[in-house]
Amino acid sequence: MTLDQQLLAAASGIVAASHRCYQRGWSPATSSNYSQRLDEHAIAITCSGMDKGSLQTAGVMAVDLDGQPLTDGKPSAETLLHTQLYKRFPDCGAVLHTHSQQACVISRCLSQCDALELEGYEIAKAFTGIRSHETTLHIPIFTNSQDIPALAAVVDAYCAQRDDLRAYIIRGHGLYVWGAAMNDCWRHLEALEYMLECHLLEIRMQA
Ligand SMILES: [Zn+2]
Repeated sequence: MTLDQQLLAAASGIVAASHRCYQRGWSPATSSNYSQRLDEHAIAITCSGMDKGSLQTAGVMAVDLDGQPLTDGKPSAETLLHTQLYKRFPDCGAVLHTHSQQACVISRCLSQCDALELEGYEIAKAFTGIRSHETTLHIPIFTNSQDIPALAAVVDAYCAQRDDLRAYIIRGHGLYVWGAAMNDCWRHLEALEYMLECHLLEIRMQA
C-alpha cells in the first residue's frame, strides 16, 4: 500500500472516532486531536483547527514520529504528545485526545493532586489486560502548558517510570488515551470517560 492509501484507510477510522467524540460532547470548538499509526515511522493525525463534528478524511494528514509533515497540511498543535506515545510504546496503534468536561473539571478540582486513582469500577475491564474490577487505574495529572515539546518530555519521563499507564490527564485541558488499534482505543476512551463522569457525580453528591 502507498502512503496515500494507508493514510486514507487510517483517516476513515479517525473521522468515525471524531464524529463520535463530538456527538458525545468531548471535543467542542475545534478542540481535541486523534491519530493512528501508519507504520513504525509514521502516523495519521488530525490537522490543526478542524471542527471535529464535521471532520472529513481530507482533514487528516501524515507526519513522522518527530512530528514533521509527510503530506500536505498543518498538523495539530499537540502532535508531539501523540508521537511521544508511539515512540514510547511500540504496540501503541491509536491515540485519542479529548477535552471532555469531566476530565477538565475533575483535574481542576484536584488542584493539589498529581494523579487520579480510579478503583472498583467494573467497566475498567474494557481496558486491554484488565480482568477484574479490583484494579486501580492510575491516571497521572500533568500541569497544562503551551510548550508542547516540554510537556511531551515530562510525560515521557513519567511513562519511563511506570509500566501500568493507560491514560493521562492534562489539568484543565483534557485527557489522552491509547490502544493497540483504533477500536481498542475507542473502547478505552469510552470506559475512561464513563468512569470520570461517575467520579464527577460522586464529587457532586458528596458536596
Ligand atoms: Zn488539547
